[in-house]
Amino acid sequence: MDKIVTSLVEWYYRNKRMLPWRTDRDPYHVWVSEIMLQQTRIEAVIGYYERFMKELPTIQDLASCPQDRLLKLWEGLGYYNRVRNLQKAAQMIVEEYHNQFPNTYSQILSLPGIGEYTASAISSICFSLKEATVDGNVLRVYMRVNNCYDNIDDIKVRKRVRKDLIPIMPEDAGGFNEALMELGETICIPNGVPKCGECPIQKFCKAYAHNTVSELPIRNPKKEKKIEDYTVFLLVSQNMVAIEKRQSKGLLHNMWQFPNVEKVMTLSQVQTYLEERKLPFSAIEKANSYIHIFTHKKWSMQAYFVVLKEKIEIENAIWVSFHDLEKTYAIPTAFQPFKNYLKERIKQNDEA
Ligand code: SF4
Repeated sequence: MDKIVTSLVEWYYRNKRMLPWRTDRDPYHVWVSEIMLQQTRIEAVIGYYERFMKELPTIQDLASCPQDRLLKLWEGLGYYNRVRNLQKAAQMIVEEYHNQFPNTYSQILSLPGIGEYTASAISSICFSLKEATVDGNVLRVYMRVNNCYDNIDDIKVRKRVRKDLIPIMPEDAGGFNEALMELGETICIPNGVPKCGECPIQKFCKAYAHNTVSELPIRNPKKEKKIEDYTVFLLVSQNMVAIEKRQSKGLLHNMWQFPNVEKVMTLSQVQTYLEERKLPFSAIEKANSYIHIFTHKKWSMQAYFVVLKEKIEIENAIWVSFHDLEKTYAIPTAFQPFKNYLKERIKQNDEA
């Protein structure tokens, strides 16, 4: 592996993508971008990052931001515990580190929401500490370069890779980590044919030499995700929409959603359901459906668009204007397609 270092780092500085968080090595910028990039594509993150930094340019701003506003800034990025932990960590930095981002690996690792990968990224990029970032991209490159058939889902393998990389890291530890990650994201890619012809370390790659690139890396077979069925009610009345807050614990806690029940319902079952709850309606239509995939499960959702005769009080729900729904309330990604459906309907009504 040590042979790859110079070629890889030189390639990185010649070819790196210009991204808003790469304009400096400010730990706040690197930290927020790394957290946003977990489970999310770079192209999707750029807009969120720029909006976030415009509104919360300092760690103190993040620490004191009202939670509803913070969730709204994160709306659509998913995995909302990431932003809750960002704020907890920011509050810790303000209170315990007097607004200064900590500069040792163990201190950084002790912040809420920061695991080994993110702690290594911040330590190496911002403080030039020799801490290796080991994510799926790095593991893929490592296994291919070494023609290694170890299972990358095995935690012991990940730890060993991290240990192996540290001694070969150059003084520019951050540049090396970024280079390995960039290679995995753009050249040594998953789910397809890697671009070996453009690879700066091809001559050192054992999988390329042995023609085994497509077999690597080895992973556990994917588990089937449990499917949960939901019926979602898009209740409107007098240009207002009914929404409710999720519980204060568990999945997507404290976020806003459209009222729903966990079962599949036909149009006539929805009618009966509304009648039983004394919710008089003037129209019901089957709206859109959507399957949202979480880490361990899938929500299969069918929505119904319901016009209620009046803004009747509904248990746990509030009535809001569509303008406020867009600007103020954080709706999780799982419910975004239904918000978009409503937006389209309201536009059509305005044009009629
Ligand atoms: S030669 Fe191909 S398989 Fe080997 S590191 Fe480069 S892109 Fe990956």
